Amino acid sequence: METILTISNLNKIFNKRVHAVKNVSFEIYKGNVYGILGPNGSGKSTTLGIVLNVVNKTSGDYKWFNGNLPTHDALKKVGAIIERPNFYPYMTAEENLKLVCKIKEIPYSKVNEKLDLVGLIDRKDSKFRTFSLGMKQRLAIASALLNDPEILILDEPTNGLDPQGIRQIRDLIKLIASQGTTILLASHLLDEVEKVCSHVVVLRYGEMLYHGSVDGMLSNEGFFELKSDNNTHLKETLLNHPSIDSIKEEEEDKLFVYLKDSLEANELNKYLFEKGIILQHLVKRKNSLEEQFLQLTNKN
Ligand code: ADP
Ligand code: MG
Repeated sequence: METILTISNLNKIFNKRVHAVKNVSFEIYKGNVYGILGPNGSGKSTTLGIVLNVVNKTSGDYKWFNGNLPTHDALKKVGAIIERPNFYPYMTAEENLKLVCKIKEIPYSKVNEKLDLVGLIDRKDSKFRTFSLGMKQRLAIASALLNDPEILILDEPTNGLDPQGIRQIRDLIKLIASQGTTILLASHLLDEVEKVCSHVVVLRYGEMLYHGSVDGMLSNEGFFELKSDNNTHLKETLLNHPSIDSIKEEEEDKLFVYLKDSLEANELNKYLFEKGIILQHLVKRKNSLEEQFLQLTNKN
């Protein structure tokens, strides 16, 4: 697998007191869609700013493309939108992109190609100021793609958009990814990451709580809901089982039993029956990504 970006023990402390990024390490491989997920203030934009060389790191390291290129040259292969799109309001979409081509020494032929990709070819002669927020964002994406970057970086790409605009941007990100461009996006929206990304880095207060595949985050061992007429005895018996991690007592005398290894409902039922326990209630559940995210971000 080709490595696009390696981040190692990255730290950022603002003004000697705000520890915005704490020892964050992860790798980005070609062809995947990565989400940095975390509530507001968790260090997402700071992390992106550091690897894009607009925020100074305090310590740690990052390397683009295995460190084979100086950062300045490496960043020419990176397309990024980390601020609100900034184009000339009285110029058309096409004129704005041509200007970007001129500055970055890219052939003008790329303008129509990218306008077509983002679904704005029919509006290429409209002035930027007439665009909706969603169209402005799509134009910004077209602009960031003009030089066919290896990776596209987006910070909260759907913020402020209406549901239709959100849908269009998410579909566009998936389309761009399907054509082989690696994507890294920051979002505080769990469902955005779940819908768009293959991999996720979860941040809270600058600390990395999880990184790995979105599927991996979904496929944890799950938990059981159990009830018997003697929950005290049930609890003691459960805690002797090697696959059981912890137990919580919840509403209506139900026990919530969390696992550290896989355990099927029939195996658990048999085990308990052999210990003389007859259950009144047995359900195996899996957490949604949302519940897991809340669990991850709530723990101390
Ligand atoms: P996110 O993008 O996840 O919302 P940020 O990276 O913007 O989070 O911010 C992380 C923390 O760093 C926050 O506590 C924020 O207030 C602080 N911070 C961000 N930028 C600056 C700055 N330029 N000066 C001081 N503190 C900052
Ligand atoms: Mg941010």
